[in-house]
Amino acid sequence: MPDYIPELALATPQWFGISVATVDGRYFEVGDYSRSFTIQSISKAFVYGLALEDHGRDYVQCKVSVEPTGEAFNSIMLDQSTNRPYNPMVNTGAIATTDIIKGANPTERLKRILEMIRRYTGHNHDVNMPVFLSERTTGNRNRAIAYLMLNFGMVTEHIEETLDLYFQQCAVMVTAHDLATMAATLANGGVNPVTGERALDERYVQDVISVMFTCGMYNHSGSWACKGGLPAKSGVGGGITALVPEKLGIGVFSPPLDARGNSVRGVGVCRDLANDFGLHVFDIAKPDHDLEAFMATQGADSSDSPDLMWDKT
Ligand code: GLN
Repeated sequence: MPDYIPELALATPQWFGISVATVDGRYFEVGDYSRSFTIQSISKAFVYGLALEDHGRDYVQCKVSVEPTGEAFNSIMLDQSTNRPYNPMVNTGAIATTDIIKGANPTERLKRILEMIRRYTGHNHDVNMPVFLSERTTGNRNRAIAYLMLNFGMVTEHIEETLDLYFQQCAVMVTAHDLATMAATLANGGVNPVTGERALDERYVQDVISVMFTCGMYNHSGSWACKGGLPAKSGVGGGITALVPEKLGIGVFSPPLDARGNSVRGVGVCRDLANDFGLHVFDIAKPDHDLEAFMATQGADSSDSPDLMWDKT
C-alpha cells in the first residue's frame, strides 16, 4: 500500500470485493463489494471525460496528449516537443486535465466533479477528508509536477487550487459496486444502466475508453492489453475498474498493490474474468461473433470476397 499517502497505509490487506454490472442492469457480486475506499487514479478517466465535455476534443488535445508512456504513474516527464503531458492517466496529464475543469470557484469545480461521479453511480459521494489532507501534506511530487507544467505555461496560475481539486477528486469515496456501475455506464455508451441517466456525452465515450485501454494501467498497460485485453483503470486506493464494451463493467477492491501501484488481486480478477469468459476485446474466437450477419449488413456477399482472412468452415 502506498506509503506516500500515509492514510492509505491504514487499509486492511484482507479486504476483497468484486462486482460485475451488466449493461442491462444486473449485478454479480461477492465479498467486500460495498466497502468504501478512495477512488484515487480511477477518477482520472472520468475527469478526462468531463474535460472533453467542457472544452471539446481539440482544446483538450492541446493540453494533454494520448500517448502511453511506459513509465510510472507519477513520473515527472512531458513531451519535449510540445511540453504536453503524455496522457490523462498519468499524474502529469491528470493534473492538466483537472486544471481545465470549469467552475467559477474551487467549490463549484469540486461540485461539478462530484456531480459527474453521481451521474455514473446514481448516488452522492463524499470526499474522505483524512485522505485528502494526508495527500495534500505529503504530495510534493505532484506539486513538483504541477509547477513544472506551470513553468511551461501548460497549466493556469491557480495551480494550488487545482492541486487541491486533484487531491480531492482522488479522495472521493466509492465501492467496488460503484466502480462496476461506472464502468458499465461507459460500456453502455455513457448511460447509467440502472438510472437511465446520461453520465457522459456519447461523443466522448470512445475517447475515455481508448485511453483506459492504452494507458490505464501505467507501465503495465502493454502487457495488460495482451493478457487482460480490457480497457481498465487502477488506483492506489486498491480499486480497479474494467469494462467490456456493450456488455459489462467490473469493479474490484483489494488494497495490496504491486510495484506499479496496481491492485494485485484486482489485476488477477480482471485477467481471470477476461480469460474464463472470453472477454478480451481481441478474442476473435468469441462464440457470439456472427461474421455472416456482419457481412450481410455491409451489402456484399462474403463468399465471393477474395480478401477473407479466416477459415469460414
Ligand atoms: N492520488 C494519487 C497520486 O496522485 C493517485 C495515484 C494512483 O492512484 N495511481 O499520486
